[in-house]
Amino acid sequence: MAVLENKLTSQQAIELENKYGAHNYHPLPVVLTRGEGVYVWDVEGKRYYDFLSAYSAVNQGHCHPKIISALKHQAYSLTLTSRAFYNDQLGKYEKYITEYFGYDKVLPMNTGAEAVETAIKLARKWGYEKKGIPANQAKIVVCHNNFHGRTVTIISASNDPVATENFGPFTPGMVSIRYNDLDALHDALKDSNVAAFLVEPIQGEAGVYVPDDNYIKAAYTLCKQNNVLFVADEVQTGIARTGKLLAVHHSGIKPDVLILGKAISGGVLPVSAVLADKEIMDVIRPGNHGSTFGGNPLACAVAMAALEVVEEENLAENAERLGKIFRASMEELIKSTDLVRLVRGKGLLNAIVIDDSEDSSTAWDICMKLRDNSLLAKPTHGNIIRFAPPLVMTEQQLMDCIDIISKTIKSFE
Ligand code: PMP
Repeated sequence: MAVLENKLTSQQAIELENKYGAHNYHPLPVVLTRGEGVYVWDVEGKRYYDFLSAYSAVNQGHCHPKIISALKHQAYSLTLTSRAFYNDQLGKYEKYITEYFGYDKVLPMNTGAEAVETAIKLARKWGYEKKGIPANQAKIVVCHNNFHGRTVTIISASNDPVATENFGPFTPGMVSIRYNDLDALHDALKDSNVAAFLVEPIQGEAGVYVPDDNYIKAAYTLCKQNNVLFVADEVQTGIARTGKLLAVHHSGIKPDVLILGKAISGGVLPVSAVLADKEIMDVIRPGNHGSTFGGNPLACAVAMAALEVVEEENLAENAERLGKIFRASMEELIKSTDLVRLVRGKGLLNAIVIDDSEDSSTAWDICMKLRDNSLLAKPTHGNIIRFAPPLVMTEQQLMDCIDIISKTIKSFE
């Protein structure tokens, strides 16, 4: 037990996780103890730029003072009542978030996966009660290489063998089509039992796949023509990450159902939400769905502060501006090295593709070297490196990071 009382070295902390934790992640070997804005520090005191932002949860930067202050303030008054009783934060938050995103109603949950589950339940119930789909026949159309979370129903929509193998039997009613393929969507929607099309406006976990410019808008139109709900999973792309408040705003559409998570709380607490207008949300009645922690006063206070920060600090504009600089710099780098095949992304959600096979270790080795050079990023799908720093980054900090990334990659030649 003595080790738990002392300050740990990185090695000790890693050994503890390896020995006592389930091995469901493969972390980069760095042990963090403190964060502030775009920076994190390891237990030995070394400072790094965070270029993952907890998978886009820390858009407002680590330990943002306004959000932490809201957390502390609320924690002294009331943290949890459950929904058995009313509390004086939830209604205020519900008014705030619905006006913020332009919907009539919100259903508050905690994690991204729970919000996706909620949206699937909502879409199915709408399908039966409003669209008239025969009992138990509702279908949800999803896309190849999607990532919507880890529950059994959600992985039933996945085609990633690592996520699905030996976890069956799966939830029926999921139809998977190619991403960015309007013909496939057109055909899939001919089935009158389809209740919803569930889609990421940019596929984040798949490796930051940006669809064609017209895809989201045309997909939305196809859904309207077929009386199918357009459900946008903006858990990763939402809250200013891609240079607009929502990634769907690049396409000028309003999804029927909007799924948010991660950065709603600035990475301070698990807070997620499903937003929809009355005609859709009203199919949910007492007892149909819920969560002990969903809509707790602590989460509500934190989320309001976190969303205020996004507006006050113009994070969407900053992401848009810095994203352009980042991709232009990576294009320059690509001209001078064979190691990087391409850069893609929107706002500050970007990825580079390393010119190597998916099973090579090059991207991992580059991330290890970036770590040595004080910048933390993580490979996804073998040869892709995602770059998603907190949106509070300054231009000067970004230029410093571009320098680190360029020099690191060149050192591999
Ligand atoms: N949807 C998307 C698009 C995501 O990127 C993620 C997480 N990476 C999730 C859902 C699941 O969120 P959580 O890990 O909070 O359950």
